[in-house]
Amino acid sequence: MRELMLERGGDSDTSHACMSGCIIRCSNCFASATGELIVSPVEFETIGLVGSNLGIDNLDDIARLNWEINDLGLDTIEVGAALGVAAEGGLLEFGDADRAMKLLHEIRSGTTLGKILGNGVVATGSHLNVERVAAVKGQAMSAYDPRAIKGNGVTYATSPQGADHTCGNCIRAEIDHLSPEGQVEVSRDNQIKMAGYDTLGACLFGGFGFASAPGALRDLINGRYGWGVDDNVLYDLGKITLDLEIEFNHAAGFGPEDNRLPDWMQTEKLPPFDTVFDVPNEQLDSIFDW
Ligand code: SF4
Repeated sequence: MRELMLERGGDSDTSHACMSGCIIRCSNCFASATGELIVSPVEFETIGLVGSNLGIDNLDDIARLNWEINDLGLDTIEVGAALGVAAEGGLLEFGDADRAMKLLHEIRSGTTLGKILGNGVVATGSHLNVERVAAVKGQAMSAYDPRAIKGNGVTYATSPQGADHTCGNCIRAEIDHLSPEGQVEVSRDNQIKMAGYDTLGACLFGGFGFASAPGALRDLINGRYGWGVDDNVLYDLGKITLDLEIEFNHAAGFGPEDNRLPDWMQTEKLPPFDTVFDVPNEQLDSIFDW
């Protein structure tokens, strides 16, 4: 077996751009042993949820499952998580890529099981009576375990969008990620910034660049629109956006009890450091008090 990952520019039909107008157009092509394109791109969250989460360690298999999920128009994090719960519920053996593909075919065929799996990890856990479901507000967690990166746990719990790591990824924070201390502050800062970037149409990767060029966003916005925004523009936009999202959630019936990780993540220890998610609920409840 030979895997080939080709770093590529942004000028071919296989490039993607998540945000309209993005000039970075980051991507890769994943080719088979014979050099044929399997899928573009293979991303790290897919490798986490469709790979290690399912005990599948063959990148060619992961790439084919990735293509199938893409073609179904579904999210690889959500479907990978659903398949993991299906494995815990006895529908497939961990590591069995062929069976995983057959379950994806159930989704394509629109069978009852396929509709359950296609509805995601919460529907699958409910159907199979599996308690260990990693989701918040109905959305599957990505591959960052919140017991090991507790800032991300705060983001998963409190983001109005559910367990979405892109709403405030805290992995780069210079903090003891195993301690409950300071995680709410780190998550709040990241959630505000990411809501601001989202509003501007700049993704996480663009954000790294803007972070190293203070004033660039201010100058770009003022140059384009002739406004007079100041250096706080990112934070101002982020807070306004989060306030609107929270208002929407309240109107939709979400309350503080929905801003929680699953109970089992607060009791089941994660090796090798035997950590649980232990950021106090009172801190979660006050994260957006500004
Ligand atoms: S830089 Fe961001 S918006 Fe642009 S293609 Fe990559 S992930 Fe998508």
